[in-house]
Amino acid sequence: MSDFKLGNKSLKELEGVHPDLVAVVKRAIEITVQDFSVHDGIRTLEEQRKLVERGASQTLYSRHLTGHAVDLVPYINGKLRWEWDPIYDIAEAVRVAAKESGVTIRWGGAWDVVFTNTDDSPEDLVVDYVARRKRAGKKAFIDGPHFELPKQVYP
Ligand SMILES: [Zn+2]
Repeated sequence: MSDFKLGNKSLKELEGVHPDLVAVVKRAIEITVQDFSVHDGIRTLEEQRKLVERGASQTLYSRHLTGHAVDLVPYINGKLRWEWDPIYDIAEAVRVAAKESGVTIRWGGAWDVVFTNTDDSPEDLVVDYVARRKRAGKKAFIDGPHFELPKQVYP
């Protein structure tokens, strides 16, 4: 068990998010070695439009709009940090929590795999994903803090 707890801001962000995903986040904070904040839960279309405009998101059909996605950002020395090493630790905690609860998760570090169906390290998953995109002649948009309930399982 970790000593970390979700703060009020994180709990607020979880309002309106699908209960399966909320359960995973609440379990993840108990077992993670890296503290995190729920930076973004549900979003309005207007918020999403702004993110797409500044290149922070690729789609107007984000799973955040429907309460099927959360962004979990490392919280280090009182600040949110978008850094890969702590992001990998959080991803690992989310995967363990999701597997425990039997919830299927798709991760923004490797969009084309079912995160909860693999045991590869999050770091390896990102490297492999970027390589696959490169081979296909495509850009890799990686978003390590992003976790979602996949459409195939949660329409
Ligand atoms: Zn996201």
